[in-house]
Amino acid sequence: MWYLAGNWKMNHGPAAAEAFFKELKTNPLPARSKSGRDLRVVVIPQLPLISFCLEQAQVCGIKVGAQNCAAQESGAFTGETSAHVLAELRVSYTLIGHSERRTLFGETDEILNRKLHCALKAKITPIFCVGETLGERESGRTFEVLDRQLKVGLAGVKAGPLVLAYEPVWAIGTGKVASPEQAQEAHAHIRAKLHELELAQAGESEKGLNAARTPLLYGGSVKPENASALGSQPDLDGFLVGGASLQAASFLELIRLAP
Ligand code: PEP
Repeated sequence: MWYLAGNWKMNHGPAAAEAFFKELKTNPLPARSKSGRDLRVVVIPQLPLISFCLEQAQVCGIKVGAQNCAAQESGAFTGETSAHVLAELRVSYTLIGHSERRTLFGETDEILNRKLHCALKAKITPIFCVGETLGERESGRTFEVLDRQLKVGLAGVKAGPLVLAYEPVWAIGTGKVASPEQAQEAHAHIRAKLHELELAQAGESEKGLNAARTPLLYGGSVKPENASALGSQPDLDGFLVGGASLQAASFLELIRLAP
């Protein structure tokens, strides 16, 4: 399986979303990647657009994800959205631990762990994001940071379905992309850590949950120009894309380039 997940962040409103899907519908999506892998395409809009995107996505044969979910199951938590309401709406995925949630909204590894359990309980597949800052990379602490984020974030998780996204913070929205070698090195490290945590086979597959290797997506300034070099790395299973997912043309190009 090859994943392409487009995180619209706090960008597209109803008119832009409508224009996006209009263009997507006039360009039939390939059923498989260039090498014949199944394609899983996901659009991740702002919450008020979820129902509209779900209708449109169904027509296009793609899935919809949320950008966040609550760390509690239900109750007096004004402004939050529970994973089970997302599930009832038929949302398939939710981002958890995007670096903007970690840094701008103070979400700790422990909070993210609670969110992860809520999503799994509601049967929403978490796209759990990890990644180091520039300072952490430059001081040689990349692996230590990834290990902590995985160990604490995934604590108590015994089974999937789980999707992981490696997103070096210094590459998100900056135009500075990790080199294919840097991405592969981090992904191989994450995969080894997942083995240690007994979560290396917690992916989604037609044969049933937890029958496939846990998908590891790379995110950070992915665009059509750098997608092929990154996508050729053996431990990458897809991309989580911000900026290049906003225009249907570049998103479609990324779908067509899927290895
Ligand atoms: C993201 O928001 O997860 C992301 C990777 O953004 P960008 O592609 O714009 O760097």
